[in-house]
Amino acid sequence: MEKKEENITVAVRIRPLNERELKSTAEIAWEKKGNNIIKEIKGTREFPFDRVYDPSTQTSQLFNDLASQVISKCMEGYNGCIFCYGQTGSGKTFTMHGAKKFPGIVPQAIEAIFSHIQQAVQKEFLIRCSYIEIYNESINDLLNTNSLNLQLAEDRRNGIKIVGVTEEVCTSPNQVQSLLILGETHKNIASTSFNQRSSRAHSIFRVIVESKNSFGKTDLSVAALNLIDLAGSESANVHTSTASTTRTREMKYINRSLLTLSTVIMRLSDAKSTTPIPYRDSKLTRLLQPALEGDSKVNIICNISPCAITYEETLSTLKFAQRAK
Ligand code: ADP
Ligand code: MG
Repeated sequence: MEKKEENITVAVRIRPLNERELKSTAEIAWEKKGNNIIKEIKGTREFPFDRVYDPSTQTSQLFNDLASQVISKCMEGYNGCIFCYGQTGSGKTFTMHGAKKFPGIVPQAIEAIFSHIQQAVQKEFLIRCSYIEIYNESINDLLNTNSLNLQLAEDRRNGIKIVGVTEEVCTSPNQVQSLLILGETHKNIASTSFNQRSSRAHSIFRVIVESKNSFGKTDLSVAALNLIDLAGSESANVHTSTASTTRTREMKYINRSLLTLSTVIMRLSDAKSTTPIPYRDSKLTRLLQPALEGDSKVNIICNISPCAITYEETLSTLKFAQRAK
């Protein structure tokens, strides 16, 4: 398959064993081989990717290798998307948002954006942020709990917009940080069982970067950076026969959006494909269309656990990632 390699990068990150797994001396099923192969320990399966990261890797390395390029391009006016894909517990949120003392991609991206702005003296920037989740094909505003089920509309300038979404103008990393905290609080309020619900929603932190020339004040560009913590991929694989009605509904929707995402990415990576791309089959891909097509920069980080106990889940994550390559 002929690839448009420069625009879509697919990486795999293996998380370290947690304390419980270390204590129970959990069996390890996957390991990194060289810089870009993930291999089965017992069997012969091997999958090549653009990059593979072992459990000792810090998020700052993923940031420098992958995300920083998407962000530089965004500052020049190109849309971008960074996705974390994987089953619940594989390290998506750790990679995207971070944990105490371990900054994720989002805080590092914010630092990078504002440091770029300080250095670019010939340009003036306007930064606007929004934070949404897509749950059961409904777009909810995480910065305003009263805004549920927002609609998408065509926008002449940016391709597509979320009608009525909160977009806060931000002038410092701290201000963006407070928005993120606000969004997290709202995620908690929105659900009685936070962890369960949040693993079934896609969360998108979005930074709109608008720039003008400081002298002539001519418009230079507007671009969107989308930082996406996807719903747990296990929901897309489970058979629905034994699930409760709510679970069935959730799984149907996650299924649809993750499958559509995988088809969209696959068609995009195949330079020769002339088959239409089904952006409209899910809210996620519809919303992200302008940031996936054309000259947009896309990173897909597939998070996996090294444990044998989740072998099948990991295998399906690797297969998803392989389709995207
Ligand atoms: P997900 O969002 O995919 O459900 P999390 O990001 O919440 O998974 O990760 C599950 C647990 O593993 C969390 O406690 C997280 O802090 C920890 N974890 C994940 N990846 C790493 C890593 N690379 N290094 C250290 N701890 C990690
Ligand atoms: Mg998570």
